[in-house]
Amino acid sequence: MKIMKFGGTSVGKPERMYQVKDLVTTGDEPTIVVLSALSGTTNALVGIGDALSAGDKILAKQRIDELNAHYKQFCSELFRSEVSRQEGEKIIQEHFEFLAILLKISFNDAISKDILAQGELLSTKLFYTLLQELQIDAVFLPALDFMSIDEHSEPELTKIREKLNALLAKYPQKKLFVTQGYICKNHRNEVDNLKRGGSDYTASLIGAAISASVVEIWTDIDGMHNNDPRIVDKTRPIANLSFDEAAELAYFGAKILHPASIWPAQQFNIPVKLLNTMQPEALGTTITANVQERGGVKALAAKDGITAIKIKSSRMLLAYGFLRKVFDVFEKYRTSIDMITTSEVAISLTIDDISHLEEIKLELDKFGTVEIDHNMAIICIVGNLIMEQQGVLQDIMGSLSEIPLRMVSYGGSKHNVSVLVDAAYKNQALQSLNQGLFDF
Ligand code: ASP
Ligand code: MG
Repeated sequence: MKIMKFGGTSVGKPERMYQVKDLVTTGDEPTIVVLSALSGTTNALVGIGDALSAGDKILAKQRIDELNAHYKQFCSELFRSEVSRQEGEKIIQEHFEFLAILLKISFNDAISKDILAQGELLSTKLFYTLLQELQIDAVFLPALDFMSIDEHSEPELTKIREKLNALLAKYPQKKLFVTQGYICKNHRNEVDNLKRGGSDYTASLIGAAISASVVEIWTDIDGMHNNDPRIVDKTRPIANLSFDEAAELAYFGAKILHPASIWPAQQFNIPVKLLNTMQPEALGTTITANVQERGGVKALAAKDGITAIKIKSSRMLLAYGFLRKVFDVFEKYRTSIDMITTSEVAISLTIDDISHLEEIKLELDKFGTVEIDHNMAIICIVGNLIMEQQGVLQDIMGSLSEIPLRMVSYGGSKHNVSVLVDAAYKNQALQSLNQGLFDF
C-alpha cells in the first residue's frame, strides 16, 4: 500500500482537485490519500479563532462569512451534477453552521482546535464527494478515529497502528482511501492537531503504521531544492537525500516538508518522495536510508525567528556538571536547543520557541551574565560526508566573508555545518553561499 499526501495548493482550486483525482487513480497499488485543507483555509481559521479569543464577534463573523463565500464558490465550480452540488453545499453548510454556533458560546483552547480542524474535514469531504460523482470507488477514513497524540502532544504510533489496521481490515477489497492530514485526538479525547504543516507528519505516521511501500508528498514544487527558491535565483531540485540530510534541511527551514515527518519513515525505512502535482512527470526528490554519492555540499536552508542566548561567567564556567545544569533549565521548560558553542568562560546556544524565555532567563541568571539576541537566522549547509572533504569549511567561510557570523557549528555530524547570522543577513548569506558552493 502507498500513501499519497496532497498539500493545500494541490487541492486549492477545483481543477487541481481533478488533477489529484487523476493522480490517485493511475496506479494499481492500494492507496491512502491524505489531504490538507484548501490553501488559505487554515490561516483563515486561525484568524477566526483569534477574533473569537479577542472577544471580537463582529470580526469573527465577518471572517466566517468570507470563508463561507469562498467555499460556496469552490463548490459551484467543482461539481458537474446537481445532486453532487447539493451534497457539497450540505457539507459546507454543516461546517459553517458549526462555526456560527461558536459565536454564541464562550471560547477556550479546545474550541480553537475544533475550529482549525474544519479545513481538513471540508477538503476531504468535498474530494470524497467528487470521487462519488465520478463513480470512483473509495472509502472515507476519518482521521479522528485513528490518529492520536499523548499528553506531550507526541503521536501514539502503536495505538495508531492498531486502530488504523483494524479499520482497513473492514475493507479488504477496497483500493482507495481518503483521510485528513493534520487533525487528531489528544489524551483528553478532544480534537487536536499535529501543528502547522502537520499533514506531512500524518502521511508518514500512516506510512509507518501500515508499513507502506512509499510515502509520496505532493506539493507545488518539483522536490526539495538546493537553496531557497524564494530568495535565490538559480536553484535546482535534489534527486536523492538521506533521511538525515532531509531531516536537517526540513528542520532548518526547507518549507517543503514538515521536519517531524522524517522520523516515522526513517524508523521503518519507508522511502519518502517529494513530488509536484503541477508537474507529475518531474523526478522530484527521493529520501531513503542510504544514498551512495560523492561527497560535497548538497543543499542550503535557513531558519529564521531564532533567539541566541549567551551565558557568561567568570567562575570556572565549564566545570563538570555545568552544562547539565544549563540544559536542565531548558528541559524543565520543554524548550529544545538547536545550536550550541562553548568557550572556557561562556556558552552560546539558540532556541526557536521563546514561550518560556523569561522563566529560562531568570533561572540562567543564577549562573552568570545572560545576553539575549533576537531575530537571528540559522543557515544550515548540508551534504554527504562534508566533514571529510578537504577545504569545505574554507569554501563556506570564503563565501561568507562579508557577513558577520555570530556562531558556527562544525563537527556535530558528518553532513552538516551551521552558522548563525543576524536575520538581516539571511538572504545575502544564502546568495553568497549559492555562488561560492554550487557551480552555476
Ligand atoms: N492545513 C494545515 C496547515 O495549513 C496542515 C497542513 O497543511 O499540513 O498548517
Ligand atoms: Mg505543508
